[in-house]
Amino acid sequence: MHTPIVTRFAPSPTGMLHSGNYRTAVFAFLFAKHHGGKMVLRIEDTDTARSSKTYENNILESLQWLGITHDEFYRQSERGEIYQSYLQKLIDSGHAYISNSELGADMEGRRASVIRFKNPNKKVAFDDVIRGHIEFDTTELGDFVIAKSLTEPIFHFAVVVDDYLMGISHVIRGEDHISNTPRQILIQEALGAPTPIYAHLPLILSPDRTKLSKRKGAKALTEYRDKGYLKEAVLNYLAFLGWNPGDDRELLSESELINLFSFERVQKSGAIFDEVKLAWMNKEYIKRLPEEAWKKEVLERLPEDILEHPHFEARKAKVLPLIIERISTFGEVEEMAKSGELNFYFNAPKLSIANIMPPEKMRKGREVSEDIVKGILTHVVSLLESIPEHEFTKERVKEIVFPYADQEGRGMVLWPMRYALSGRDKSPDPFELCDILGKVESIKRLHACVAH
Ligand code: GLU
Repeated sequence: MHTPIVTRFAPSPTGMLHSGNYRTAVFAFLFAKHHGGKMVLRIEDTDTARSSKTYENNILESLQWLGITHDEFYRQSERGEIYQSYLQKLIDSGHAYISNSELGADMEGRRASVIRFKNPNKKVAFDDVIRGHIEFDTTELGDFVIAKSLTEPIFHFAVVVDDYLMGISHVIRGEDHISNTPRQILIQEALGAPTPIYAHLPLILSPDRTKLSKRKGAKALTEYRDKGYLKEAVLNYLAFLGWNPGDDRELLSESELINLFSFERVQKSGAIFDEVKLAWMNKEYIKRLPEEAWKKEVLERLPEDILEHPHFEARKAKVLPLIIERISTFGEVEEMAKSGELNFYFNAPKLSIANIMPPEKMRKGREVSEDIVKGILTHVVSLLESIPEHEFTKERVKEIVFPYADQEGRGMVLWPMRYALSGRDKSPDPFELCDILGKVESIKRLHACVAH
């Protein structure tokens, strides 16, 4: 292995990077840290027309959030003189020359010129640590352009100069750069620069196996942050895009990932970015948070009308665990509150007659009418009244109501009971609701429903 190990993440801020793009940064980071090496962050903004600070800032914010730190930072737009001197060197040594562009003349009739690399027309081979031995005949590339002028290097040239000067030992990047590698190796040879070790990572695909793209719904990494994903989960997920530890472990901390990471376990075939899997992983991380931590996250996202509700303090110990059970990301707390899914824990629901009636599949062929349901709810009230207030727990309510529900048909009793308490098609079961609301409030809601 080359020493010292230096990797780099070299994004072009010409558009909003999507989450999959950060997989390259994650691998470069894990590999460098695994070997006690260095990681370079290089913003490739030589295309001044298309690069923007907004995109660059988003890249910096995303990496910072994920905890991917770098040891050195560069911006290609600040390195013009360096590229110029190396271009001049290649021209002086006969490896490059100024030629007229076939793009023709500019507006004043001057022929635009470009700088071309004098192609030695040979076979170039390299051993990619993931893809294996790769050979190219560079003849068909011709004398390719390496700069539009002495002050405007193009991508291939700047990358090679920088990888050389920054002492990059391992170039870790997406598979879409394989075809750029022969050109870059030719330039390295002309500069007398060593060829780094290449690791071209498998493509990232959408679940439909087409290339992941913004157009296909791929999101910026900061969107996950804003939706309340945990950075530990996202880092873990990105590390698994094309790599695994070789056993069935799926939840690995940053330090475990650093310990376990190796190119031997990077696959060649495309890796699928699956939102469902990511949400699952996030939930696993939420489940492992200490109580104080997840409560803080939930409380931060509850709206004021809930936080300041007179019953909030008394009921929160029971309500918060029910919320956490139902979410995969903390952002869903806000969504639940907005869609009214949390209202019934605090306020009596608005009821609609049609929904009080147990739906077809709950009735199991039994007859229903408003009178029948009214009778059932009235009986449920009398059962609940028989429980002393200090014994009014989930278990006790279940014990008392269940035999009656078995006798009448479960759906026939439990559906209207639950609906009367929550006013929603979907909510926790009626025993849970009684437990949270307490005897007085539960009976009040059932009465209100009968009256309705
Ligand atoms: N700037 C290039 C990109 O964003 C990466 C160059 C490289 O990794 O060699 O695709």
